Amino acid sequence: MTEKMLQFVDIEQTMPEKRAANIRRQDFQEIYAQFDVRNAETQASRCSQCGVPYCQIHCPLGNNIPDWLRLTAEGRLEEAYEISSATNNMPEICGRICPQDRLCEGNCVIEKDFSSVTIGSVEKYITDTAWDNGWIKPIKPVKESEQTVGIIGSGPAGLAAAEELRKEGFQVHVYDRYDRAGGLLVYGIPSFKLEKDVVGRRIEHLISSGVIFHMNFEVGRDASLQELRECHDALLIATGVYKSRDLKAPGVGLDNIEEALDYLTASNRQDFGDKVTGEDAKKFDASGKHVVVIGGGDTAMDCVRTAVRQGAKSVKCLYRRDRNNMPGSAREVKNAEEEGVEFVWLSGPEAFLGDKSIDAVRAYRMKLGAPDITGRQAPEPVPDSSFDLPCDLAIMALGFEPEDLPTLFDAPELRITRWGTVTVDHSTMMTNLPGVFAAGDIVRGASLVVWAIRDGRDAAVAIARYLSADINKEKAA
Ligand code: FAD
Ligand code: SF4
Ligand code: SF4
Repeated sequence: MTEKMLQFVDIEQTMPEKRAANIRRQDFQEIYAQFDVRNAETQASRCSQCGVPYCQIHCPLGNNIPDWLRLTAEGRLEEAYEISSATNNMPEICGRICPQDRLCEGNCVIEKDFSSVTIGSVEKYITDTAWDNGWIKPIKPVKESEQTVGIIGSGPAGLAAAEELRKEGFQVHVYDRYDRAGGLLVYGIPSFKLEKDVVGRRIEHLISSGVIFHMNFEVGRDASLQELRECHDALLIATGVYKSRDLKAPGVGLDNIEEALDYLTASNRQDFGDKVTGEDAKKFDASGKHVVVIGGGDTAMDCVRTAVRQGAKSVKCLYRRDRNNMPGSAREVKNAEEEGVEFVWLSGPEAFLGDKSIDAVRAYRMKLGAPDITGRQAPEPVPDSSFDLPCDLAIMALGFEPEDLPTLFDAPELRITRWGTVTVDHSTMMTNLPGVFAAGDIVRGASLVVWAIRDGRDAAVAIARYLSADINKEKAA
């Protein structure tokens, strides 16, 4: 092993500089600065180059982390980029928004006593440098194929599959109902976690590599699944999950109770410079309002931090479990608290109060009861514990479910699970319809970007195998 490594005993963990909370709450720019060369090299050199790297095992992409850390420590960044991009189609995006504390960094063996290697920040540094230096070039397939693949959905699953299939020379068409490509990378996740031009340059890269995007094209409205099947040799469904989970409580229909994704989409559109006008401009603007966000996942974290930036008078997050049992990333909770968000743990909504518009959320205290079959303690309401929180804007962030795809796509024959996700054979990623594959949240349920990329890559391999078998059959005939 190079003598540069194993420095974790002498060199402390340093994260890229984080902008002060009182400054960053005034804008939507990313909160972490970039490592400089010296920091990237010294932080990478803390890695002990494990023989069995737990970081890699716990990265859904199986990224070759020890190798790119060593190359970074040695100043061999272009080679580090080659290795990092061999397993990941958007390392700079994962470096920014993966919940590293639950994945690679949370499983780094030096985490316990000395703090983990800052894997995500080094990964982001490597690929941002690759972009700056022009190392990322349009794809030029060795051989062009006449076979075409249609991809429904331009989120990370669809984009990863598009890139991998283009490398193999297939003619790739991506269809999306939105006006911009990127899925939740552009209209869900706010800019203070992932700036829009970071996603934009990935899309430009795919366009210059020959991927054809058909925007404002909604499958189900502009074509049925069957019509699209007739246009392509294979199809990939990568439509994500968008139906908000409901909450049943008195007063839930009052004005100014909004769905999280509607709220975040409006804010993200404003970030792009789009005009949000009329009623939407008022109802999705938190400035001067008491805001209560209900839920404890990543989406809830994004809503509370967006409301802070819009100038809310107060922002509270109501969650029925405690800090240790919330699904959102611990790092994001800390960021939110620094920015002035108040977490009301162990509390659930009982009713929404008001005449026409909401005035207050009535909540009750919860306690954690006996563990259920998954081992998670179920929250139970504490009797006579009600209290009211003043509220002019309530945002529901209770998670997402799949839309009814067989109906939407006019394809009743498409098989789905009892949760509404699309059924695939996991060894081929193919649905019950020959030549129709599926990947990402629409198969897993609401998950993570890194898992969507993994699925997109797996689907691309399976589609390529399916199409080459097709060609071989034709040749044999
Ligand atoms: P999506 O990204 O949802 O993309 C699906 C695309 O399909 C969309 O562009 C949609 O317009 C299109 N589409 C849908 N139906 C049709 C149709 N009928 N016709 C044409 N196009 C259609 N994950 C993380 O790892 N880190 C985070 O910090 C994080 N934060 C998140 C914050 C929020 C607010 C949300 C909602 C999710 C967050 N996630 C995060 C989860 C992550 O964004 C998703 O797991 C990931 O984007 C799923 O990728 P996908 O490609 O399967 O679907
Ligand atoms: Fe960690 Fe995500 Fe990068 Fe994997 S892709 S190394 S989990 S930040
Ligand atoms: Fe390096 Fe930590 Fe991974 Fe070991 S687990 S290879 S120390 S980053």
